[in-house]
Amino acid sequence: MYLISLFIIGAFVGSFLNVCIHRMPREESIVFPGSHCPHCNHRLGVIDLIPIIGYFLIRGTCGYCQAAVSFRYPLVETISGGVFVASALAFPPLTSSFAFAFSLIFLSLLIVIFFVDLEHQVIPSVASYLGVAVGLLFNLSGGLNLFLSALIGAGLGFFILYLIGSVGKMLFKKDAMGEGDLYLGAMLGAAFGWRGLWLALFLAYLLAAIVALVLLGFGKVKMGDYVPFGPALAAGGVITLFFGQKILVWYLGMFL
Ligand SMILES: [Zn+2]
Repeated sequence: MYLISLFIIGAFVGSFLNVCIHRMPREESIVFPGSHCPHCNHRLGVIDLIPIIGYFLIRGTCGYCQAAVSFRYPLVETISGGVFVASALAFPPLTSSFAFAFSLIFLSLLIVIFFVDLEHQVIPSVASYLGVAVGLLFNLSGGLNLFLSALIGAGLGFFILYLIGSVGKMLFKKDAMGEGDLYLGAMLGAAFGWRGLWLALFLAYLLAAIVALVLLGFGKVKMGDYVPFGPALAAGGVITLFFGQKILVWYLGMFL
């Protein structure tokens, strides 16, 4: 019952994240006006506002203008519900309330960054600035050592991606790394400290390489096409949050 209520709360938060994903890259206010169809601007009714189920009740089309509603809406709401449940399981709210709260905010920001970058090839800087601040604050609650590691991690995350971007620019004569990616790197460093940052970056490159190979294999992209790196960084961050400790222990165990 407790996990079901968390899922429902998460799904409602997901509706709000959908609004952010739609409006942030357009630099519109995320509060006003209320939810409306992006196609015909009609205000949404009660049914349209029910997360996940609403989409299926209206059969994926706007009831006022019949425009197709993106499948991203129920998808983000479902993922967001899942994020709330997974966070509660990984960081029990009663015993580790700070980690639980951090996990919710951090993952919500990553969801927004993931989908905005996927749809618009740009990372909303507000989201990553907020991520850096929340990461530093969370690690400050764990003591000075963690905070320093987070501070170094944030600087290092920005700098490593800047270096990779510069090398890429020299080699391929075009921008491989957007400014948003650099701040996202800082956000991951602020969350995981400089040790965890390496793992998150490694996972991001591994994922990006796998996805790029699959897309090339299916002929969806050609060599030299621009593929946004933000979603891979975001995914690397999610895996590091939930499994980072386990992976590092397992990895170090191979050498000891
Ligand atoms: Zn409409």
